[in-house]
Amino acid sequence: MSPTSGRVAIVGGSIAGLTAALSLRDAGVEVDVYERSPQPLSGYGTGIVVQPELVRYLVEHGIDLSSLSVNSTAMAYVDALTGNTFGSIPAEWRFTSYNTIYGALLKLFGLERYHNGKCLVGIDQDADIVRMRFSDGTSSEADWVIAADGSSSVVRKRLLGLEPRYAGYVTWRGLLQTGEVADDVWDYFDGKFTYGLLEDGHLIAYPIPGRDEGEPRRLNFQWYWNVTEGPELDELMTDTRGTRLATSVHNKALNPYSLDQLHTRGEKLFGPFRDLVVNAPSPFVTVVADATVDQMVHGRVILIGDAAVTPRPHAAAGGAKACDDARTLAEVFGHGGDLRTGLQRWESRQLQQGHAYVQKVQEMGARLQHGGNFEPGDPAFRFGLPSGVPSAGL
Ligand SMILES: Cc1cc2nc3c(=O)[nH]c(=O)nc-3n(C[C@H](O)[C@H](O)[C@H](O)COP(=O)(O)OP(=O)(O)OC[C@H]3O[C@@H](n4cnc5c(N)ncnc54)[C@H](O)[C@@H]3O)c2cc1C
Repeated sequence: MSPTSGRVAIVGGSIAGLTAALSLRDAGVEVDVYERSPQPLSGYGTGIVVQPELVRYLVEHGIDLSSLSVNSTAMAYVDALTGNTFGSIPAEWRFTSYNTIYGALLKLFGLERYHNGKCLVGIDQDADIVRMRFSDGTSSEADWVIAADGSSSVVRKRLLGLEPRYAGYVTWRGLLQTGEVADDVWDYFDGKFTYGLLEDGHLIAYPIPGRDEGEPRRLNFQWYWNVTEGPELDELMTDTRGTRLATSVHNKALNPYSLDQLHTRGEKLFGPFRDLVVNAPSPFVTVVADATVDQMVHGRVILIGDAAVTPRPHAAAGGAKACDDARTLAEVFGHGGDLRTGLQRWESRQLQQGHAYVQKVQEMGARLQHGGNFEPGDPAFRFGLPSGVPSAGL
């Protein structure tokens, strides 16, 4: 089969979906993206640490990294109750936001073949074709479907019956603009990635670019809380309409008791952390969960990104893994060799990487959430994808 003869549909138009779409289009493949959101995603703009794989497509297409991100020179480790510093190491990372990366990718892909308002509800396939059904009653067919529909992937659920497994904790997230915290709090967090360590959880904070180019930078924080599965988690994840949500409760839907709890606990933190938590205008909460698959290629349906392997966020490379899946998959389609053989090699390599990464972040999470031994600069805690995974070897 000629690799470019088929029509490829991508379900999910976020970081992995768009990177796959752009890379496939460059390889001469006809590609459409089906995204459930009725309009281009605005997300919540929270922070992402830049890894080379995350921005590779953008950089290779002439986008200047300094227009997408802000830089840092250190990683600081602080007791989040007392403010005592455990240490600080030099660390040259760049920080960006989900919106910035998504916006840059979407701008390159354009809207012509990016179909908003297409929420996949059903999928089936035979030897020649894949059929997709959407919640608006429409359907579509493609020779190949790439499922990039994220951590709660409907495609993964339909194929494997698999749901993400709760990690035992949630993360509160928030963003602050200049002026929403005092200048000395800004200075405290500026230019670095700060860990705020606790016996029963941890915080992270770092600056990210403004919403649009030229706008002032913002401060981004996350606070990971251990929350037992059952009534306690159910209450936190139940919105003002009484619906138990699976993944995130957005700020406007948070029940007032949950918000009160955040602020009450926040008041006890060391000053700069307290100010972030208490002053953030629209904090929201997301459950932390993992999922792994043992197979990414299912006939003519291929899982990538979080839809294949969903890692917890601690090594800051989930987006990078998603983009790496996408870009290397497009290489297979564009290579011109035997597609099935190429896919087998690709799957084996990406699974090896995904599984090693999930193991790494699970170990990090266990130590970070339970007051475990945490040495500044410990290589086990280094951000990024695991090294030592062989190249795709097409
Ligand atoms: C708290 C947190 C912090 C993180 N920090 C970092 C970081 O610092 N660095 C990093 O690299 N990564 C980070 N990540 C991980 C990163 O955000 C994800 O790995 C990345 O977004 C995965 O991209 P994706 O395209 O696979 O999935 P997603 O970004 O989840 O996108 C899935 C897309 O599919 C769409 N969709 C879902 N269901 C359907 C359907 N049925 N039909 C059609 N469309 C559908 C969704 O609307 C969405 O657009 C973090 C994640 C979390 C939760």
